[in-house]
Amino acid sequence: MPATRQVIDRMIESLKQAAALITSYRRQSTVARRLSITNRDKFTTTAQSVNTCCQDLMLSLQIHQSSKIEILTRDIPIDDDDKAAETFVAEHGSLEAIQHDRELVKEFAQQQHLVMDDTVMDQLNANLTDTIQQNQARLEVILKDNVNSAVLDGFKGLVAELNAAESEQRFHCVQCDKEFTNATNGLKSCSFHRGEYDSWGQSYPCCGTGHPCQFQPHRAKHHCDYPYGAFFPRARAITGYVDTVDEWASVEDTNLEDDGVKKASVGQLLRWVSRGERLDEATILISVGTIWYTEPYYFNTFTAKEMETITRSVRLSRRTLIFRTSTSESEFAMAEWILSVSGKITGVRLTAKSATSTNPYVRVCPIDMAKATKSGDIMTLSEGGMRSYIPASPYILPATIRAGPEISDIQIRPPRTNFKTKTSPALRVILKTMSDPPLKANPELASSKVDYFQGVVSVFNNNAAASNNPITIASASASYRLVGDPTYNPCEALKLTDRAELPITIEPRQSWSLKFEAAVPRSEDDVKLDIKWWNRAIVARHRPIRIKITLEDIEGEECSLVLEYVFKPYPFNKSGANDIGEFFFDDPVLLQRNCIRVEKCDAGGTGVVKIAGNEIETKRLEKIVYRALKTGKTEVDLEIGQEKDYGTWEWAAWALIDFSCRRVYAFKIMVKEGKLVEKKRLGCLGYVLCPPYGESVDKQRPISYATEFVKLAQLEPYPVQQIVTDDAFDDFKPVVPPKPIISPVSPTSPSAQPQVPGDLAQRLTSIDFNLSRIATALERLVSHVEGQVPPSG
Ligand SMILES: [Zn+2]
Ligand SMILES: [Zn+2]
Repeated sequence: MPATRQVIDRMIESLKQAAALITSYRRQSTVARRLSITNRDKFTTTAQSVNTCCQDLMLSLQIHQSSKIEILTRDIPIDDDDKAAETFVAEHGSLEAIQHDRELVKEFAQQQHLVMDDTVMDQLNANLTDTIQQNQARLEVILKDNVNSAVLDGFKGLVAELNAAESEQRFHCVQCDKEFTNATNGLKSCSFHRGEYDSWGQSYPCCGTGHPCQFQPHRAKHHCDYPYGAFFPRARAITGYVDTVDEWASVEDTNLEDDGVKKASVGQLLRWVSRGERLDEATILISVGTIWYTEPYYFNTFTAKEMETITRSVRLSRRTLIFRTSTSESEFAMAEWILSVSGKITGVRLTAKSATSTNPYVRVCPIDMAKATKSGDIMTLSEGGMRSYIPASPYILPATIRAGPEISDIQIRPPRTNFKTKTSPALRVILKTMSDPPLKANPELASSKVDYFQGVVSVFNNNAAASNNPITIASASASYRLVGDPTYNPCEALKLTDRAELPITIEPRQSWSLKFEAAVPRSEDDVKLDIKWWNRAIVARHRPIRIKITLEDIEGEECSLVLEYVFKPYPFNKSGANDIGEFFFDDPVLLQRNCIRVEKCDAGGTGVVKIAGNEIETKRLEKIVYRALKTGKTEVDLEIGQEKDYGTWEWAAWALIDFSCRRVYAFKIMVKEGKLVEKKRLGCLGYVLCPPYGESVDKQRPISYATEFVKLAQLEPYPVQQIVTDDAFDDFKPVVPPKPIISPVSPTSPSAQPQVPGDLAQRLTSIDFNLSRIATALERLVSHVEGQVPPSG
């Protein structure tokens, strides 16, 4: 049957075309299907050709048309959506005008409640005929196998086959992480959360429940049309690392009242995740706003190929806006395409403005769209934020005021060691200080009532080696006296510290080391301070103290030696390399410096200064200036002050603002006595210049000073104490002990006592008398010569 064969061949051809058309059509998303109104013509033509074939085939096979085939003879149906599409296209001129205009397609999609993503534009612009041809090869195989049975079973089987072919096209939804097909994707098929699951709080922050709060169609590609939880970790994998993006340009402006940040950036996406594979294709990343479900944001990528569609669309529509976070003119972030005169995209303009800035930040990044690369230098068109002006003259700050005495951390002098042994001729000993310094204060023990002094004294028996005069020390005692005081007072206790017990006997020319610890009671006022100090003595903090060690021998003869202790203060903290100011008052009772330091922060960070360790950042200063400009207050408490040592002292700091130059020019620091001190007598108030910070307009302005209100209160004067640092109380000429006379007759005689022989004594007395007489005579003679005193007989 050559005729039937011919018909079948023709039919196969028609069916192939029809099937390819259907497959291609199904691959189009709903929006593209609706807008491609030429689809309908294609269907009509195909249907007609299939119809003709079928009729021929029916005739050939002499069978009746089935109702299935009858469908094909009917008009291609037009539904309401088709009509809407026709109207929409008619309104905007032609399909040509729409298919390149992304915004118009988007508008239509919204009107029709349909999903619109980047693939739609590609589908609209792809030639359906090309796609049909691509599908033909695949379908040919299916058709060859099926045509016989298709003819026999009618179109039922073929339609089922085609349905099966479509159902193979499965997509993975980025919103709900489930599989879907176009056939099963409805308007509310996808349920998900706006926010990202918070594993810490074990909930979804968007709605606080486990049940999805959003319903939309499934989406196969990531998008920023509306928020969905899975988007944020994906974006964070890029924004949170430095190796993911090569940022070309960015703008950022902070609201100085609510800290809200407006920002936008453009750059090249290098990898989707840190340390991941580098992208082969140059990809532009544009980000606007804060990527979070509560905020409007834009975060999208474009390859050079994807830019082609965008370029066509923008050229025709002249719609250059990429994204804007808000329609508000006072506060927004925005990204726009920049077009050349010919309508080519030549770059991206970024804008960020917060309500507290007068001007927006505007930067332009030139981009070569064909290569998706940066093609020139970034241009800054406008600078926002809080900008200061350059002061036309240097600021002159008032001098620091300090009330109360200033103390030193240097020992007033080293302790004296030139005290001599005081003894009676009968007790021939030499006492010598062996410890250095002579006395150590509270080295092991500390009390709040007494100060302990430790020292070592060597006791030397100065009798001749052969004299057989041992010395026996029966007791030891200690007394103390502050330099300038008239008397020695007994110490509270004297303890021999090396477990020595008295009496102790020292042989001639031998010595014994007396290691002792003397406890000196504190004054009533000092006891009230209730302080324990190690290695320093409270009792001697103003005046040196002397401790006299007195030894008594078995016969009641005494000898003594004085040792001195001079207070050595703890050194004050040394100023650091970054210090720019030091504000303090000294506590003369506790010899303590209550000090607040101001340091300059290292360049490169956000900090400007550190006041007592509190870092003050640029943003903080800008906020202060902004508020000052609003309120007119130019002296602002930084609210970082503190009470110290349980309220014995306190400090506070203020920023001083130059209205004219719109900057903080200095800090004022006050250090004073705290609430525990009733009678306020000590304090300090000073200023330190604020180092340059932040951005400034390249323009000079005359300076203006702040109106200050905070002052150091009128303090009672602190009485100046005259401090005695030394006296001669313990200085005396020691009686040179007579040399032991060793009798030439009996040099070894132990009983030999030193004595002046009688005749020698007589002669000495005679010489004395004669000398005295000569002196008197001379005096008189001199007086006589001067005629003052009449000579007497
Ligand atoms: Zn939710
Ligand atoms: Zn989904």
